[in-house]
Amino acid sequence: MQKSAQFVALVLMMAVIGCKTHDLKEPESKDLSSYMQVRKSWKDADAARSSAAAVVLTEAEQKVDGQLRKMRLEMLSHYKSTHFFPPARNFYQSKKHIEETALFGFLQRMPKGGILHLHMSAMGDADWMVNRAMQTPEMHVYWRHHNGEHIKGEMRAFERGKAPTGFFPVQELASDVVSFKDSLRALLVFDEHIDRDSVDIWTEFERVFQRITGFVTYRPIWSDYLYEGLLILAKDNIQHAELRLPFLNTLYDLDAPANPYALADFVQTFVEVQQRIRKIDPGFTMNIIHANLRFFDQQTIWNDITFTHQNRTKYPQWLKGYDLVAEEDAGHPTLFHVENFLRLDSLETATGVSLPLYLHDGESDWVSVDNLYDAILLGTRRIGHGFNLFRFPGLMERVREEQICMEINPLSNQILGYVRDLRIHPASIFWGSGIPLTISSDDPLIFDYHGLSYDFWSIFLAWELGLADLKALCQNSLVHSAMTPEEKKKALAVWDKRWNEFIKKEQF
Ligand SMILES: [Zn+2]
Repeated sequence: MQKSAQFVALVLMMAVIGCKTHDLKEPESKDLSSYMQVRKSWKDADAARSSAAAVVLTEAEQKVDGQLRKMRLEMLSHYKSTHFFPPARNFYQSKKHIEETALFGFLQRMPKGGILHLHMSAMGDADWMVNRAMQTPEMHVYWRHHNGEHIKGEMRAFERGKAPTGFFPVQELASDVVSFKDSLRALLVFDEHIDRDSVDIWTEFERVFQRITGFVTYRPIWSDYLYEGLLILAKDNIQHAELRLPFLNTLYDLDAPANPYALADFVQTFVEVQQRIRKIDPGFTMNIIHANLRFFDQQTIWNDITFTHQNRTKYPQWLKGYDLVAEEDAGHPTLFHVENFLRLDSLETATGVSLPLYLHDGESDWVSVDNLYDAILLGTRRIGHGFNLFRFPGLMERVREEQICMEINPLSNQILGYVRDLRIHPASIFWGSGIPLTISSDDPLIFDYHGLSYDFWSIFLAWELGLADLKALCQNSLVHSAMTPEEKKKALAVWDKRWNEFIKKEQF
């Protein structure tokens, strides 16, 4: 009796197993080969959306691309084994290491085209700034604790004996104070200790601007400062610069400490500096995007817009557009100034002269900071930063459809505490979905590095790019520049020649 029950149970169990085996059989459409086909078609469809998809590499470029990909794989394998991936860590911990890599040398030699997002007052080199301050007898520095008005390290030129309390001649401090030079330099640049929340970092960031403005706008110095900044770019194989300037008419000297010089004077210096830099790079071009601070009230900004518009009429080859800058999370939203920009529309219609907008917007981690809607509605030609675009999918689609170029500053975003790990920087999504990008460095003096090679190094590894991506990013920096079509044509011809020579030399 017991045995027969066991037999029945066994038969039933086998029937159930049999049924299950039958149910689990893979349908024919899910065999491995068709699965892989579908998988590949999905990946191909994604790759076809990328902003670099249209780039067709020549045979020589394909060879360089192969070398680069091999180099990248070896580097990634090394970083995985050491559990330290530099683009996901504090930049200053890896700066020296980056400089020692073969990839960095390659990127330094690469003709990068233009830099479209660069604040002139923070474009130079801190050592040059400190040395020049020490060679300038009238340059003073505030060397006491912050007093609410002035901060330690704030520089400005004064006649000897006429400086406000707390300001001392730089030369005097250099001989009297131990390690003064290093102390002053440390007040001008960030280092690896700058690793806090973006709000705190911005406070320090704006202090540095307060320290350097009186140095940079001192008329006997500023043209040399501009030249040295451009020289840094030229050495990094950058041929075009679009400079955000907040002080079109605020240069001063000892004869006119309070009265700003006429813009004509300022522009004349620009012409002279361009001539100087063209002795180093005959193809070098540059222009200005006037940038004021979003903190100001509406009337102040309207006065500034009309001033800039008038001068755009006089100097269209130099003055290309208008922008509002500073910390978005703390300053007025773009909507606060929208009526001014709408009035600008009618000013343009009445005069027939345009003042294109190149707005800083979307440099925030918060969903509530939705300035990008206004930037796009106002017809911004490019977007300065814009990384929080990923929060607004409809707007992102519009940016892609209208091919509005975004000025991405990877290391600035990381150093200011917005995106810690560059592998998940939103711009990699934008690039993959067909939005044109350019790469810039924002305020490299304060970040204590030169040129664009560090930024390219970081995203090349973090976004796993290839030569087609690098080529498209470099081309974008000229195609989406504020130059006229004729100027762009010339600049692209210069770049094209240099790129081809570069590729020829890079074959191992
Ligand atoms: Zn900026």
